[in-house]
Amino acid sequence: MKQVVVPIVAEATECPRSDCGTKTTDHFICPHCNKGFCGNCFIAVTENEQGNEIKCPECKEKMLLPTNIKA
Ligand SMILES: [Zn+2]
Ligand SMILES: [Zn+2]
Repeated sequence: MKQVVVPIVAEATECPRSDCGTKTTDHFICPHCNKGFCGNCFIAVTENEQGNEIKCPECKEKMLLPTNIKA
């Protein structure tokens, strides 16, 4: 069973990853390691009808980013 990650919608703030630092509104919290990352940081794996499968840039675990969840 894959973990699902839900985007955090907030005002544009800097990515918590120090080697990124992108100011963006696309923020996510990894359900595996609880680290924050932004839309520029995650690693896209595949796309299917449920959403995008992505990998955490920190722990490299896979999770699903559902396309049907809109803020
Ligand atoms: Zn980032
Ligand atoms: Zn992680």
